[in-house]
Amino acid sequence: MVINSIRMFLDQKNLLHNIEYLKKVKNKDILPVVKANAYGHGVNVIVPALYSAGQREFAVARYVEAENILKLNLGNDIRILVFESIGDMELIKNTPNIDIAINSMTELKEAIEAGIDSKRMQIKIDFGFGRNGVFHYEVSELKDYIIKNNLYLGGIFTHLFAVNYRDGLKIIEDFTEIVNSIGRERFEKIHLQNSAAVMNYNCEIATHLRVGMLIYGLQEVGYYDPNLKQVFSLEGQIAGVREVENSKYVAYELKSDLDIPDCKYIAKVKIGYGDGFLKKNEKSKCIINNKEFKIAEVTMDNTFIEVDESVKEGDKIYLYRDITKEVNFIGMNIYELLTILSPRIPRVLK
Ligand SMILES: *Cc1c(COP(=O)(O)O)cnc(C)c1O
Repeated sequence: MVINSIRMFLDQKNLLHNIEYLKKVKNKDILPVVKANAYGHGVNVIVPALYSAGQREFAVARYVEAENILKLNLGNDIRILVFESIGDMELIKNTPNIDIAINSMTELKEAIEAGIDSKRMQIKIDFGFGRNGVFHYEVSELKDYIIKNNLYLGGIFTHLFAVNYRDGLKIIEDFTEIVNSIGRERFEKIHLQNSAAVMNYNCEIATHLRVGMLIYGLQEVGYYDPNLKQVFSLEGQIAGVREVENSKYVAYELKSDLDIPDCKYIAKVKIGYGDGFLKKNEKSKCIINNKEFKIAEVTMDNTFIEVDESVKEGDKIYLYRDITKEVNFIGMNIYELLTILSPRIPRVLK
């Protein structure tokens, strides 16, 4: 192990706990969303950890993400739902472990005519987010087509993202009616809740929760469940401490410009914006020896922290310890902050 490096540790116990907890209290199966490098946690660590615990179904945004998971060769029973439209029927046929989202009537007809198994198709219904999906006003056409061709499908879903509470209830009601009118038994999986919606609504009709944030134990202000446990820990050791009392500069900057005019000691850690640890973190806090210290400067490869005489090389440091507080301070959301963490940070299963 390289001396004094910063790594992301992933707590397998917490990950599995979150999934088991959600299954139990919500009484649904989980469709873990592992797009964007498993929200920065490292898809190559998260997916094998879940697979070895018995999870077989996953969801990603892009085909290329599914392709990368399949390269891990975990087993032939893995199923990955891809949200984006793929369009290339040969590619779909040649990748039998992926399930496709059907985002329009045209796509449904094309895929059926190309001979793709309808059990591999999950119909996305659009309720006017202008993103993608079969428009709700096309539903009668959809229904006729499904009945006429006697189709049994892999699933049907919609997205309840960022709607106000009453609009959400209406979508759940309309979606439920659509599923029932086509025939509930025609769909293996039914899902519409992302993490926020799991906290805010109960959806009787759903078989699965399609969640990212909650399985990683990440929560935004407002709906906090203390039973969910954060999976990642970004930690390492102080790579060095320098006395800077008589120096005008810290790293590449004037102390006065960094707003640390009286700084006596500066600790260096090996993480920087080249790792996706943005300059926006300057002036935010990190934890060393259970004490908070201020981040003075972030460069491409290193971060400099204003410390006191108690901090020594090799001391344990935690970054993003309290992620909810951190995102408020730097004005980004948790999704952004984590998904930009680069592959240069080693991900280690614990
Ligand atoms: C990203 C995504 C999710 C997961 O969202 P969370 O808020 O992380 O639970 C669910 N569904 C779709 C379609 C998504 O794109």
